[in-house]
Amino acid sequence: MVPFFNLHAINQQYRQEILAAMARVVDSGWYIRGEELAAFESEFAAYCGNRFAVGVGSGLDALSLTLRAWIELGKLRVGDEVLVPANTYIATILAVLNNGLRPVLVEPDTKSFNLCPLNAAKAITDCSRVILPVHLYGQLADMTAINRLAEQHNLLVLEDAAQAHGAVAAGRRAGSLGHAAAFSFYPSKNLGALGDGGAVVTADQELAETVRLLGNYGSAQKYENTLKGVNSRLDELQAAVLRVKLRFLDVETQRRQALAKQYRDLIRHPDIALPSFKDDGSHVFHLYVVHTARRDALQAYFAENGVETLIHYPIAPHKQKALSEWNAMSLPLTEHLSDTALSLPLGPAMSDEQLSEVVQLCNGWR
Ligand SMILES: *Cc1c(COP(=O)(O)O)cnc(C)c1O
Repeated sequence: MVPFFNLHAINQQYRQEILAAMARVVDSGWYIRGEELAAFESEFAAYCGNRFAVGVGSGLDALSLTLRAWIELGKLRVGDEVLVPANTYIATILAVLNNGLRPVLVEPDTKSFNLCPLNAAKAITDCSRVILPVHLYGQLADMTAINRLAEQHNLLVLEDAAQAHGAVAAGRRAGSLGHAAAFSFYPSKNLGALGDGGAVVTADQELAETVRLLGNYGSAQKYENTLKGVNSRLDELQAAVLRVKLRFLDVETQRRQALAKQYRDLIRHPDIALPSFKDDGSHVFHLYVVHTARRDALQAYFAENGVETLIHYPIAPHKQKALSEWNAMSLPLTEHLSDTALSLPLGPAMSDEQLSEVVQLCNGWR
């Protein structure tokens, strides 16, 4: 049996340290916005190579509150357009809609499946104000081209880095490649809490302060509310756990990358297309996604042989019932990806034996 992702085994490795961190919080008598959060925020900002990190309640909130803060700061107006990848997880798009902004869906690059700068350029209008690349599956989008485009058209750049903690390009990490970045600490993300959590990372102090304010009912001073805020905070328990797990993130990432390289070197099948990536740290393998026209058959074959696989994502956002106003839209490449993608087992707790089992099954598939 090869599980898709063994979160239990991952967190068991740190059990003692996690319990000690949690005990420290219990004993402190202070559970929201205290020392653990402040310490995690400065450690995570430093890790990303940026100035500020603000803990919030989730990755969705990190995206939403950044956009909302830009509205409050007068950099965006309701109705403005935000360029987003069409083949992202729906949260990216919901964050835009929740702020009364208009998502403009952009078809991906055919090699990386990340936001295609050329397609994005074609989608720019007088109303475009933000470009929101997603580092899909853990692989950095082409930020050089995206930042160039943003400069030309005066766009704000918001990285959706929910899958890409620690990914690096030319010495700069995810979280420092745009005007702001949103991270998720959902338990199964590369840096995962024991519950929900997220963070906004930025060099912009005004933005960081506004996000912090919005996440606390619009209040910096108790019972004085300057904005119509929400409740979205990273609590002390999660911050304490994340401080433990952050120390092991690079080791876990290296393991993910080593496994992905083995997949690349060992899987040989004419009908299975492997992801293309560079060995420069720009992909942190939140997921290892292959493509095949016979996807459902391959998934069934793996299941019969005790290998768990998943599909990211089986239904493209514009085909979701929740976005029925877009259901008639045709985005052929995005739709093709959701019909052919299959995520193979991968995670820091996966053994070499488990990997060879998957490889052998792959290579023996008829
Ligand atoms: C997980 C994820 C989110 C949302 O994060 P939550 O913490 O679950 O709200 C947003 N975007 C992408 C690309 C994600 O993978």
